[in-house]
This record gives sequence, C-alpha cells and structure tokens, in this order.
Amino acid sequence: MFSYLLDKIRSKLTDWQNKILSPGGKLVLIKNVLSSIPMYTLAACCPPRAVLRTIERMFAAFFWGSKDGVAKRSWLAWRFVTRTKSEGGLGIKCLNDIMDAFSMKLWWKLRHRKGLWVELLKAKYFRKRHPCDAFMTSKCSHIWRRILRGRKLAEPFISLRLGRGEGSARCEDWIPGGPRLDSVAIPPAEGVTSGTRRGTGRRTRGRSRTQARESADVEAANSTVSQRVGTGELRRSARLAGRRVVLPHRTVTVRVLSDRGRKIRDSRARNSDNGGPAIRSFWTASGWDLSLFLGKFGAEAAGQLREANLTCTSDPDSLVWGDRKGSFTMAAAWRCCRTSHPTSSLFSNIWGKCIPAKWSILMWRVCHNRLPTDDTLQKIGFHLTSRCHCCQVGHGENLQHIFFHGDLAFTVWSAFRGFFKARMHSDFLVFLQRWWRGQDSHHRRSLAGAIIWVLWKNRNRHRYEGRGAGSDFLVREVKRQFRKSLSSCRHLPSIPSWALE
Ligand SMILES: [Zn+2]
Repeated sequence: MFSYLLDKIRSKLTDWQNKILSPGGKLVLIKNVLSSIPMYTLAACCPPRAVLRTIERMFAAFFWGSKDGVAKRSWLAWRFVTRTKSEGGLGIKCLNDIMDAFSMKLWWKLRHRKGLWVELLKAKYFRKRHPCDAFMTSKCSHIWRRILRGRKLAEPFISLRLGRGEGSARCEDWIPGGPRLDSVAIPPAEGVTSGTRRGTGRRTRGRSRTQARESADVEAANSTVSQRVGTGELRRSARLAGRRVVLPHRTVTVRVLSDRGRKIRDSRARNSDNGGPAIRSFWTASGWDLSLFLGKFGAEAAGQLREANLTCTSDPDSLVWGDRKGSFTMAAAWRCCRTSHPTSSLFSNIWGKCIPAKWSILMWRVCHNRLPTDDTLQKIGFHLTSRCHCCQVGHGENLQHIFFHGDLAFTVWSAFRGFFKARMHSDFLVFLQRWWRGQDSHHRRSLAGAIIWVLWKNRNRHRYEGRGAGSDFLVREVKRQFRKSLSSCRHLPSIPSWALE
C-alpha cells in the first residue's frame, strides 16, 4: 500500500548520484526534500512503523553513503541523528513524531468543531457527548482511532480561556493552576442510585449493590497513586494509557485509574449530556456559586476556583494551546510530542551561519567521536597497526591525538590560541568548550571549524595519498579557509588583522 512512497524516495536517491554530494549537501537534501515527500501521507493516514523505519533507513543510507549499492557503516544511530542540533543531532525530524503532531492537529481542529468532517464524526461517535468523553469502539474507523490517540497527546496542552462560560465545566481545563475536573469524582445524580423507578425489591438491591461497588471503585481509583512530575515527562505521561494527566502551569499530576474505575468514569460520561453542566451554570450575578460548585466537584477544586479569581465575560470562550502564545502550530505540536534531551554548548556552537555545513558535520562527528580513526576501527573489529602521521616519535592514532595532542595539531592550535586567550585542557572537547566562550563568537567558531577541517584533510592526504603538509603550510591554509568562510557569510563579519597575514 505504501510502496509508492518508498519508490518515490528511492527514485530521488538514484537521481542524485550519491558520490558527488558533500555531507552538508546531503543533509540539506534530507531535511528539505526527502523529509517532505512523506508529509502528505503522514497527514492523511498512519503508515505502519515498519514503513517509517524503512524510509528512515533509506535516509540513513543516503547520508552515510554507499559503495557499489551496499550501504556504508552508519556511524551514529538514527535516533541520535534526529535530535535537535543543540542536543547533539542534525535537526532532522523523526517521522513518527511528525505523524503524532499531525494526530494532535486533527484533535485540535475537532475541538474547534470546524468543518463538515467534524460534524460527520460528531454524528457518528459523540453525538451527545463532549469530545473528551468520546471513546473508541471495536468497529470505529482508522481516522477516529488516530484522533483519539491525538487526544491523549494533545489534551494536556489544551486549556480554555474563560469568556461567557459556555464550555463544559467538567471536561475543559479552565481553572488556571487547578485540577482538570474530569478527574474529580462526581457525586451520583439523583434518581440513578436506587433503581426503584420500575423495580422490584430484588432489582433495587442489585442496583444498589452495583452502585455502591462503583462508588467504592471510583473513590479507590481517585485516591490511587498521585505523583508530581516535571514538564519533560509530560508527553510520556500523556501517552500512558489509563492515566489522567492534569496540568497546573508547568507541572502535572498523574493520577492512575484502575481499569474498572476508568470504565465507570467513561460510562458515566456517556450518560452525561455534552460534557455535563456548563461553566456559566456556576456563575451568578454576585460571583461564583461556590457551594454548588463544591457539591459537584469537591472542596479542593472549589478552593482553587476561589483563588483563581476568574470572572465570566461577554466574550466567547476560546481554546488555548500550551502556555505561551496560545495558538496551535505544527512546530509547537512537534515540540510537545517529541522526547527532549539535555542540550550542550558543545553541540550548539558547531553550527553557525559563518561555518560551512561540511565543517559543522565534521565537528559533529568529532564531538561524538565517530570518525574512522585507528583506535575506533580497532574497536569495531579491524586488525591494523596504528601509527600517527604527525609526530617524529610514532604514537597510536586516536581522535584526541589527531586534533589536539599530536605535534602538528598542537602547533596549529598554539598559533591561534593567543588571539583568543583560550586556556588549555588535557581533554580536547573540554578545550573546545573553553575556546568557544568569550567575545567574537563568530570568529572563534569559524576558526575552530577551519582548524579541525584542515587537520583532518591533512591526515587523510597523508594516509591515502602519502603526502602530508608541515605546520607552517597548515597555519596558512587555516587562515585562508577562515577568511573564505567569513567572506562567504551573508552577515559579512569583519576579518581580523591576524588572519590577513
Ligand atoms: Zn602524532
């Protein structure tokens, strides 16, 4: 079914003639051309995970290159590549995250109830219910399943900005800092508990027992585990089936419902009329009717309503996304559904407008220690004798030696270190972080890129062509590359005098 998608990507890759593209060019093509090919499909339906994995494998094979139709080694797993640049990735978006963001977008549109398709779904799946109370049936369509998955992801980020108070008091997140009221046990409605409307004594007793058991279960369910978690865990928490997620500002309370408690809550919701009482039903001319509200949602929620200092206005209610600008964007949804990782200045400084992409990608591989140096090749099973190209006395070759500790590298760094007063450190990556601190960040980052690029090119020339260069030539070459990168930058930063020598 999705073979057309794979064929289209494959034909693009064949056209581009993998060999003549630089890593930077490949990265641009993956981010801007290849990644956009499955967008329409991801918006319209949910391809199986296997299809997405196949597509990402094709992306990875293209990025890392191939020889005679056989993919070369992937030096870093794709899950690292799809992180943001400051997190140590290349900023390529994971297809699964994009698919989840589209699911959230569908739910956001449904919540606004705009469009004929929403009316159709409403008539079919939640005729008299609030969309948050809608449920999945065994025969529901794929799109409905997807929308309900989007609900689980998106709903923790949706809140209601109070206007006239037409929204559901129970289903909407409308009290800032307060709990979401659908997680609060609602007292049974009058006339439902006894079952005496038609019943015999046996029937009455049976219903009473059932009702009592249900109430006990709801209480037990609502008094189960509560824990405070940070916003970083919000997405993961929201995905956990059977857990209610409540969002007061930047922390959430995860309340675990038992299966039975969830079924009871759902069955009650089904019987309610479009999400229960509207918010305005608790609003009177003299303010909030807190006693009525307390009887419905409990003392804790009533206290938070009093503290929130809310008032109904003549404006319509509006749904708000997140806690910033309030409008939904695909980028915002993507940020919500992806797994974030710690950022590092080590990775964020290797990218810049004055740094060619090929330098950035080389530095990225250096920071991850993912270059085919002798020690790395030995680790992955190649049997070889290691000897560096840069010292009179031979050393084993590793990344730190090529770029920092070797005689040649040390001489080149020393030639420029004085201009930035960078302090030395025995570890190359720590030294790099120190190097990037301070003023003239454009110059610092660009120069580091030039030095690393020239050292690596010289090492490869020596290794594969047998003709390396001396330190004087390398210093001149670094200056030339540095000037070239600055002059080709659109911002036209000034070229320092020492680089003109
Ligand atoms: Zn050496």
